[in-house]
Amino acid sequence: MQKVLQSLLELQSADRRLSDVRARLAVSPKKLAEVDARVAAAKTELETSKAAQLATIKDRKRYELDVEQWKERVRKYRDQTSQVKTNEAYKALQHEVQMAEAEIAKAEDRLLEQMVAGEEYDRRVKAAEKTLKETEETARGAKANIESEKVAADRELAELGAERARFATDIPEDLVNQYEHIAKKHGGIALAEVQDEKCTACGMRVRPHVFQEMRRSTTGDLFQCETCTRFLYYIEPEAFVPPVAGAAAQETGPTSPSRES
Ligand SMILES: [Zn+2]
Repeated sequence: MQKVLQSLLELQSADRRLSDVRARLAVSPKKLAEVDARVAAAKTELETSKAAQLATIKDRKRYELDVEQWKERVRKYRDQTSQVKTNEAYKALQHEVQMAEAEIAKAEDRLLEQMVAGEEYDRRVKAAEKTLKETEETARGAKANIESEKVAADRELAELGAERARFATDIPEDLVNQYEHIAKKHGGIALAEVQDEKCTACGMRVRPHVFQEMRRSTTGDLFQCETCTRFLYYIEPEAFVPPVAGAAAQETGPTSPSRES
């Protein structure tokens, strides 16, 4: 395969990885916002429960006061009863006492209801406090993960950017521009392999004489698919040569892993 095609393929591979990393980076603010939203929801639940608890306490105090006031009236009516002279006045006071006692009973019922409700709100506040604490703990862990993912992605982005720049220097500038134009139009894929004399990207047949020219070309001319305009490349079956045993050994340097990060 021509050197420039190889460089273009490497450029494309770097661009694909770059776009993966960018996609990962793009979702990290959303992930952070989701974590924050979970904490905010737990806080709201706690505040709502506390407000309900407080309202119940206020109601309870009011009903307690009601009970006291009605009891006070009963005492007053009873005092008056000992001083009345007529039967009618006595009956009227008795009636007032009955009414007041009925009010006491009602207020006491309400008080009891509020006490039962209050216990329920106390439980709800305790549960909300526990949930908030757990949510905050989980959120701290999740945020640390998202942050370290972001740091790794940023580093990868810088490395891939440098890698891409190196590949791009091997390619004439106008060709890089053309590549970028096609890649933009075709979801990042500007090169297509020819298999069975067809463009594997769009499936269109490559004309036989074009295919023959492609295989023979020594001029450095690049061929484009007539349908999708992608650059075509062809890998001759015999081009696969088993890797030389020494090639891998060149890679092995000092083995101690770097722990700089
Ligand atoms: Zn095509």
